Amino acid sequence: MTGDLDPFKIFLELQLGLPRNGPGSAASTARAFAMLPGLREDARILDIGCGQGASTFELLRLTRGHVTAVDLFEPFLDKLAARAERARIGEDRLTIKRGDMAALPFHDGEFDLVWSEGAIYLVGFETGLRLWRRLVKPGGFVAVTECTWLTDAPAAEAMAFWNDAYPGMGTVAENGAAAERAGYEIIGTFTLPQEDWWAEYYTSMRVRIAEMRATYGAAAESVLAAEEAEIALIENNPGQYSYVFYVMRRGD
Ligand code: SAH
Repeated sequence: MTGDLDPFKIFLELQLGLPRNGPGSAASTARAFAMLPGLREDARILDIGCGQGASTFELLRLTRGHVTAVDLFEPFLDKLAARAERARIGEDRLTIKRGDMAALPFHDGEFDLVWSEGAIYLVGFETGLRLWRRLVKPGGFVAVTECTWLTDAPAAEAMAFWNDAYPGMGTVAENGAAAERAGYEIIGTFTLPQEDWWAEYYTSMRVRIAEMRATYGAAAESVLAAEEAEIALIENNPGQYSYVFYVMRRGD
């Protein structure tokens, strides 16, 4: 080995080996979806930061509508496309598109519902909600998950980690106020259960970390150790923060 490998390549390889790329579950997607009052059966849905399609395929199962899945990185979209092909889901139900969530190539009001799990933090909660508002019809819906403080007084260790990793992280009340400022009404929120961190995410990530450490050794260590620190943080600070689903209506 000659020095460190490209950290982003290591991160991608780690993430591509996981069933999903952030905390969540089919049950939580379905629970949020059930909170939408009067969504049309043939809804047009946009899944932003779809990754390999954890929520995309669940949305296709929950509706008879059309889902457009968008992500910035081709390797995720390739995996999503392969899965769609295996499931025989055609273009009548699914469009896969590469795009940047900060500059999405869609018309105003093109969608009945915008969905995004574990991705809005990449532009920031309020900024993302402001950017995406125009994409839904007046009265349309936006549902996102966002890592959220569950306490007003976090432990020093958790605060230090998140002040560095995501300084914009808010409480449910702060994010609710941000959503209102951005032009939405909150229909409801719920905290994802602890098992949503583990079953399809951190448990698999630990296995991948061990495999990749065996393959790459010290050259990948900085990325792998950072992921391990993130996993240890939630073990040491249960109940201080979690992902929260925010289900909203565009207010007009
Ligand atoms: N929704 C998926 C993936 C969440 S991880 C899941 O729950 O499993 C965040 C995703 O956002 C990754 O797939 C990453 O490739 C994508 N992403 C990162 N920056 C982006 C950007 N600027 N625009 C669109 N997608 C982006």
